[in-house]
Parts: sequence; structure tokens; C-alpha cells
Amino acid sequence: MSSRDTSRLVVELMRRGATLLSESCPTCGGVMLRYRGVTFCPRCSGFTSVEEVESTLVAPGDLLENLEKVLYEGLRDDLRSLRGAKGHEERGALLRSLKEELEVLEIVLRLKELRSKSEG
Ligand SMILES: [Zn+2]
Repeated sequence: MSSRDTSRLVVELMRRGATLLSESCPTCGGVMLRYRGVTFCPRCSGFTSVEEVESTLVAPGDLLENLEKVLYEGLRDDLRSLRGAKGHEERGALLRSLKEELEVLEIVLRLKELRSKSEG
């Protein structure tokens, strides 16, 4: 990645709330960024886009939020299919899928509760 691409990435990340640190990278001497609680060198990390940074560095809390969202979407889809389901087999498969989604959702909600407790 060229240094020009790096600067563009830094600018884009700062626009999204990243902070520039006063210390420089011990490896390349370039700027260090702090974004979503993680400190990294945009040059040495090899990130080429904000999307890449976000998918790699998302905080655990965001992961739970995303998982919860995906699960709710899955539940909604399965529920819709269940209404139109014809036959025992199709219904059984959908119910199993719903059960699995609910089980994971329960874990997600429990983890979120634990986290909110630990945060006070
Ligand atoms: Zn570096």
C-alpha cells in the first residue's frame, strides 16, 4: 500500500472518530491510531480500507449487537416461512432452525446483560 493510500485511510478513520496518538510506530516511525479501543499503525497493519479495519477491530460489544441483529432477521424470516410451510417435514426443519436461533439469542442477551453489569 502506498503512503498516499495510508494517509487517505487515516483521514477516513479520523472522520469516524479515530484519534491520532502522540507516539509513533516502533516499526516504521509512522503515525499510530486509536480506533474503537484498539491502537494500531495504519501502515504496518496492512489495512487497505475502513471496512477492513472495522471488520477486524470491532469491539466485542459491537459483535454482540451485530449477532443479535442477524439472529432477529433470521427469526423473522423463519417465522414468515413457517406460516407458509406445507407439510410436517418443512415445518420441523423451520422449527429446529428457530430453536437454534433462539438458543444463540438467549446466550447473546445473557452476555449483553453480563457486560452491562460489569460496566456498572
Ligand atoms: Zn508502522
